[in-house]
Amino acid sequence: MAGFWFQQALLPGGWADGVRVEVTDGVIHAVTPDCAADPTDERHAIALPGMPNLHSHAFQRGMAGLAEVRGPGDDSFWTWREVMYRFAHRIGPDEMQAIASMAFVEMLEGGFTRVGEFHYIHHDLDGHSYDNPAEMGVRLAASAAETGIGLTLLPVLYQYGGFGAQAPSEGQKRFINGLDAYARLLERSRAAVAGLPDGLVGVAPHSLRAVNPASLAQAALLAEGGPIHIHIAEQIKEVADCHAWSGQRPVSWLFDHAPVNAQWCLVHATHMDAAETARLAASGAVAGLCPITEANLGDGIFNARDFQAAGGLFGIGSDSNVLIDAAEELRSMEYAQRLAHRARNVLGRRDTPSTGRVLFEGALAGGARALGRAAGLMVGASADFVTLEATQPSLAARRGDGLLDGYIFAGQRMVDGVWRRGRRVVSGGRHVVRDAVAARYRLALGTILS
Ligand code: ZN
Repeated sequence: MAGFWFQQALLPGGWADGVRVEVTDGVIHAVTPDCAADPTDERHAIALPGMPNLHSHAFQRGMAGLAEVRGPGDDSFWTWREVMYRFAHRIGPDEMQAIASMAFVEMLEGGFTRVGEFHYIHHDLDGHSYDNPAEMGVRLAASAAETGIGLTLLPVLYQYGGFGAQAPSEGQKRFINGLDAYARLLERSRAAVAGLPDGLVGVAPHSLRAVNPASLAQAALLAEGGPIHIHIAEQIKEVADCHAWSGQRPVSWLFDHAPVNAQWCLVHATHMDAAETARLAASGAVAGLCPITEANLGDGIFNARDFQAAGGLFGIGSDSNVLIDAAEELRSMEYAQRLAHRARNVLGRRDTPSTGRVLFEGALAGGARALGRAAGLMVGASADFVTLEATQPSLAARRGDGLLDGYIFAGQRMVDGVWRRGRRVVSGGRHVVRDAVAARYRLALGTILS
């Protein structure tokens, strides 16, 4: 048993003072507010639950900052995708592991303690299956084991190059599987995460453009009750292409053709009309938002104001990993709403005026649901928590929600310590294996970019 004591901690019911947390085998077995520290307790000033990161493509961390150069024509998501495909084509299993470990180190340093890895580079450079079809998943699980991050592995079903079962392009050959191969991939992926303390495998039909209606339904069944993630409406062109194919917008089509429920996470539900917003909010599915990446790629702005008013559940993801930080994702989410609606504190509520609190608790609940694992400082949850550096100027003379608003809106690298399964993985803002991971990352990038 390990004991922790916090001057202030954010519990499921709100902020509490003098909180003791007892941990056994990585799981919280007691939370006691308003008490004194036990002499053996580790003591810290401010504790928050670790944040789930519900959408990542870890390998894209390796191209962060490399696509910020204007091409010959107008740049867009689709020109970025060409750069990404060229980068993806250079990554073998060793490079995948080196880059993923770096991304996971940065996630933990940035306040994320679990990641949903939406994983689609399955095959070798020629497009052939590795001896183990889940070889890349094995490497992602090894990175999770090395860094300590919780892993919900989401192997992607990718069959087609566009709506209406178009043939895949050369750049997509490493991603492609039929349904039988996908079922085998899932089986081997489950074996790959079996050694992790709370690893989980879900399914991820890539997008409506990359599967067909029958395979989408089949993939959902293969989830066996676990998470189902899909990219849904990131780009205007995607909405137009879906309409040309089916006569419907993507979110409408999905709701008319799939039993969307609390198992589902609709990533980049960026472009929805009012009816789609209401349907998603009522479904219990999570809107997977990636505000930094969506801004970086010029996707558009999710209408969080109306989605929240309808009672919708959201979570955040670092997606392209161009910059990894939980607080900055939440800040970007609110700032996009302010710019879109020309208003302030758009997501603050009458019953919870602190915008930081609404953002943090919303993303915690939605992220936990989307990744299939409980999150929060509560009995039965994994002991995943973050402490803030209490001497930060933007936390001076604050309490409770004021700490969250300071952290999210005025914070610069405020995370001090991070614990996963009760084990300290970040100390003084740095991951305990950062130096070794960064050295391997530099070698891998040297190979890839040479
Ligand atoms: Zn994505």
